[in-house]
Amino acid sequence: MDTEQDGHWHFQPEPFEGESFSHFLGRYCALNCITPSGLAQHTLAGSVAIGRWRKLRYIPPPSEEQLQRLAEITGVSRERLSALLPQQPMQIGTIRLCAACYAEQPYHRTHWQYKSTDYCERHGLALLARCPCCKASFPIPAEWETGMCLRCGKAFADLAKLQKQVVVPQHRSRGASTKSP
Ligand SMILES: [Zn+2]
Ligand SMILES: [Zn+2]
Repeated sequence: MDTEQDGHWHFQPEPFEGESFSHFLGRYCALNCITPSGLAQHTLAGSVAIGRWRKLRYIPPPSEEQLQRLAEITGVSRERLSALLPQQPMQIGTIRLCAACYAEQPYHRTHWQYKSTDYCERHGLALLARCPCCKASFPIPAEWETGMCLRCGKAFADLAKLQKQVVVPQHRSRGASTKSP
């Protein structure tokens, strides 16, 4: 969907199921050819806030006012934007990836960053914490536009065959996602 705003056409991407806020912001900026500082100006959120959100830092979370403004700019409701924020404690120092999920639909999922998540239940594969080819860390999700490792150029979708299989106990197979700490 797109719309005319301030005399300019803006593309208004729909958030994907479970997409991280950081990835959504990056996708919005890329589609509309605007920089993070441009987004900071449009949303009046300030560069510091936009920089934090891009790095998956949501403590403190975006204010109601910031979400409202972001909703007006992106065309995504405040409620849907809020739903992109994490519901559980996250580990943000290492960006994680299930390449098999990414091959199905190319975006960063919030739940990969949860402290309680260490493998993809959908594929039974360990999450990648760095590029298995060159060992580089993955960029922040807001910079996943190219969908590839920024050091060696390997496409994320091609990394699935390098993910390790996880042996999942029967009672924890798909659907039973509760996990003791
Ligand atoms: Zn997966
Ligand atoms: Zn690499």
